[in-house]
Amino acid sequence: KRIPKKILITGGAGFIGSHVVRQFVETYQEYQVYNLDKLTYAGNLENLKDIENAPNYTFIKGDITDSEFITDLFSKTKFDGIIHLAAESHVDRSITDPMAFVKTNVIGTVNLLNASLKLANGNPSFRFYHISTDEVYGTLGETGFFSETTPYSPRSPYSASKASSDHFVRAYGETYGLPYVISNCSNNYGPNQFPEKLIPLFINNILHNKSLPVYGDGNYTRDWLYVMDHAKAIDLIFHKGEKGETYNVGGFNEWKNIDLTRLLCRLMEKKLNREEGSFEKLIIYVQDRPGHDLRYAIDASKIKNELGWSPTVTFEQGLGQTIEWYLTNQDWLNHVTSGEYKEYYKKQYQQL
Ligand code: NAD
Repeated sequence: KRIPKKILITGGAGFIGSHVVRQFVETYQEYQVYNLDKLTYAGNLENLKDIENAPNYTFIKGDITDSEFITDLFSKTKFDGIIHLAAESHVDRSITDPMAFVKTNVIGTVNLLNASLKLANGNPSFRFYHISTDEVYGTLGETGFFSETTPYSPRSPYSASKASSDHFVRAYGETYGLPYVISNCSNNYGPNQFPEKLIPLFINNILHNKSLPVYGDGNYTRDWLYVMDHAKAIDLIFHKGEKGETYNVGGFNEWKNIDLTRLLCRLMEKKLNREEGSFEKLIIYVQDRPGHDLRYAIDASKIKNELGWSPTVTFEQGLGQTIEWYLTNQDWLNHVTSGEYKEYYKKQYQQL
């Protein structure tokens, strides 16, 4: 009898992780997919309701900062590969509580690396795959792109913690021979994203007729990628990426925050049959995020040329599907915004 490959996905109850878990459970019936998640405010098993009873899926509740728990888990189950997404992921929260980011993103990652060394030793096809962000590269001016060789220059506690974990992964590769791969991706959007990030925050605020707080002058520029296209890139990199390599993943899709907000308003006005301009009136400019990075943009030609990946949906399609999802899943929205979120929102946007 063939023994199924055991793949551990950390942070699988979160936004991107839930799409990666679904992608693996549905595509690879021959794998046993384990989802390890602490279920913080950002983790939600509702994101995986449709596959929770799949025979090749197992959920494990646990904290990656707990080294004893991780060591024990890894000695009981010999994973063939780790796809590591568990993290504190919101820049604004990292400004108010940097230590939480050091604990999960740095210490949590090192715990997983330590536990992986043994598994890698007895298994030549073992792979540790770290999911990271383009924010480790710092900020760009009006022109230029981040490539895989751009020097690291993180500027927020969030990006500093992700940069640190990237460095640890590479150091474990160099020092102990751990076979790893890393990808750094631009801003994701799509279903299941917690409404603290720009797109779901603004969709939720529009639905509640609340202001749309745009930072500074609104000229901050980000590259946006539909989350399911990111999940496909992760699948490809996990299976075909070269050991010890880094891949930048991006949407070839740059938007200034203010233009994106206006587009979102227009699409929502159309969808809800509202007069043009009625949601744009909700836009207000608020005090800038400290140390705000002006522009991120990814040169994703390496993954395109070497692995044949490119985004499959346009921004209008992806945004349309995202709006549709939030409109048909208002229970989800109401559920995730009912508890801790209210306190967070009050603190974060006290001037509104
Ligand atoms: P998210 O905040 O939606 O999900 C994070 C998940 O990790 C949650 O389910 C949470 O419960 C879990 N988690 C947090 N701390 C944990 C701990 N100590 N132990 C176990 N589980 C824990 O984040 P996301 O937006 O889905 O991002 C996933 C990964 O992708 C992160 O590593 C992030 O840095 C990276 N990334 C995100 C983006 C983006 O645009 N969202 C872009 C590039 C890279």
